[in-house]
Amino acid sequence: MGRSMIKRLLNRLFTAAVVLLAAAAAPAQKRALVAVPDLPGYKTLKCDFHLHTVFSDGEVWPTTRVMEAWRDGLDAIAITDHDDYHPHKDDVSVNLARVHQIALPAAERAGILLVPGVEISKGDIHFNALFVTDANAFTGLDLTSALTAAKKQGAFLFWNHPGWRGPTVWQPVIEAAHKDGMVHGVELVNGRTFYAEAFPWIGPKKLAILANTDAHAPLPAEQRLGQRPVTLVFARSADLEGIREALTARRTVAWMDDHLWGSAELLKGLWEGAVKPLTAEARLEGRIVRLPFRNGSSIPFEAQLVGKPTWLTGKGTIHPQSESVLALRAGPVPPGGEEAATVELEITNLHPAPGENLRLTLPVRIAARK
Ligand SMILES: [Zn+2]
Ligand SMILES: [Zn+2]
Repeated sequence: MGRSMIKRLLNRLFTAAVVLLAAAAAPAQKRALVAVPDLPGYKTLKCDFHLHTVFSDGEVWPTTRVMEAWRDGLDAIAITDHDDYHPHKDDVSVNLARVHQIALPAAERAGILLVPGVEISKGDIHFNALFVTDANAFTGLDLTSALTAAKKQGAFLFWNHPGWRGPTVWQPVIEAAHKDGMVHGVELVNGRTFYAEAFPWIGPKKLAILANTDAHAPLPAEQRLGQRPVTLVFARSADLEGIREALTARRTVAWMDDHLWGSAELLKGLWEGAVKPLTAEARLEGRIVRLPFRNGSSIPFEAQLVGKPTWLTGKGTIHPQSESVLALRAGPVPPGGEEAATVELEITNLHPAPGENLRLTLPVRIAARK
């Protein structure tokens, strides 16, 4: 290799190193705009209340969780490191109060609400405690003592991944904690897992529904919100007190992989805020009735005709941030002259109760003949 060639090679390597350094120094500058409608009287906050860092068994620094939340279009997060599991303790402090202290300035700069939290981890049963005032108070305690201490701090407590290492069952220890007012919610969604067996508990046990990532590794940038699990919180005010009040009042919806779980009232509110039918009248053309909708939100709605009018069938996706046409088809012999005043739809990806889809009645007049 000649000297000039070596010089050129060194130059090139130097340039590559400078480019790499610049890339490493510049944090992500793009925030996803996630359109979820507010409900009358409530601001809809997109939240992830279960995240880990190197302060327990995660792989990232606390400020990284804030940066990811900003990038993905979230409004609020809680960083919830384990109280009793510190595999990095030889290199990183076990003082869990530091997690919040380190992340807070970054959260304030980014406009992300940071809820102080910790994951109370006792054997296979884990609870997240939000709004804690002393994150170090639970280390070394048993489950009941830790939950009692968290309750004394005024924490909001929810059961994490309820079927993590065994069947998803409402265990005696959970029942006892629930009786003592120490189970306020449950993760219906943890990561990509939906705990179907936990859904029937929501109503009778008066639990808030939560959907969180429980991320330990860095979160991938290409995942849009909705693929990244998110808890929608319907808050009277976009601040920590607003979040606490909404969680306590159980005004939450879980959103993961284009499915949403929550009360019929909240799901209907999301539909009404997101989707406008673009016609109040439609007629049979050939054997097809076309119903156009505009969906201004980032949520897709899978609509299926059920019930009226009985002489039509059909289903289709009302796509996010788009106009979509739902094409309904008449049977071989359309009823002559018959008219329907309403259309009854089921939204098959919105679930108000186990085994149920949201049902809607739309005031659309459909004429079978001109
Ligand atoms: Zn856990
Ligand atoms: Zn966890």
